[in-house]
Amino acid sequence: MTLLELLAACIEQGRTSIAPAMAEEATRKRLDRLHKAGALARVRARAIICPQCEANSVRVIQVGAGLCRACGQVLLAAEDLQRLAPDHDWLHRRIAQALGLPGEPPRTILPGRLWHLGDLGRAGARKRILFGQQLIGTAVQRALLDAWPTHVGETHAVIFTTSPPDRVFLPGVPATLVPLPAAFRLRGRGLVTDDAVWAGVKTPATPLAAQRRHGPFSHDFREVILQGEDTPIALTPSQAAIMRVLWELEGVSLESETLMRRAGVALEKPVDAFPRNKYPGANGAYRCLVASDRCGRYWIPRSSFEWRVS
Ligand SMILES: [Zn+2]
Repeated sequence: MTLLELLAACIEQGRTSIAPAMAEEATRKRLDRLHKAGALARVRARAIICPQCEANSVRVIQVGAGLCRACGQVLLAAEDLQRLAPDHDWLHRRIAQALGLPGEPPRTILPGRLWHLGDLGRAGARKRILFGQQLIGTAVQRALLDAWPTHVGETHAVIFTTSPPDRVFLPGVPATLVPLPAAFRLRGRGLVTDDAVWAGVKTPATPLAAQRRHGPFSHDFREVILQGEDTPIALTPSQAAIMRVLWELEGVSLESETLMRRAGVALEKPVDAFPRNKYPGANGAYRCLVASDRCGRYWIPRSSFEWRVS
């Protein structure tokens, strides 16, 4: 595990009271290096586990001594009392410095989860640089999708994140997720970018690529054209999110619950998002494109991939 992998894990687990004395030696050394770099800051211990029996919590009775239920009075070394917590200001500042962003303070997009650190590149090829943590789960996903149009908009965003990117799902959002441990390395008290990863991120997204269609769907999945038709059918954001998840699986089937979770839609079954009385066109498209079995699995059959829009 690299230093930044360890830091990312601590942040993802929401650990705010890391006890180096309780860690095994290799981890303790890494925690110490992160502390020296400034990534972990010293905080007060809220609870102390007895250093002798490692089972009971200890009440501090005087400097250097505590009382354990089982062991009686025990000596407490300074390291027993030391606790560390990730320093978010340090991380935001060091990412901004490594990327050469203007030194503006980060702007919170979603408290405790997502921040805008600055913009890179000239107009037309501008990228929003964001930092995100603990981005997994339906509730946070929905909050992100709600905040996105106002706080980030259509400009392509790069999200450096401590969350595993394959578990973060933001349908319809023009963003690239880059794992923090891959994008940077710790050097001295700062971060430096990993050249290979950064070169990939910097490549300007061409407008053509952004407008590229996905089979019968428009670039943003908000419209679909059925075979033999020439009028696009509009899809709601929820409908588009479901279609996108299925489309990107390239014919692989998905269980209803997982599908709805990934799409960030709080309904039981995909068809619930396509009520026939309200959205006859979208309902027709759903029935035409999406297949299901009797066990509640859904997919878009491979044949839809041969689709060509003339
Ligand atoms: Zn004890």
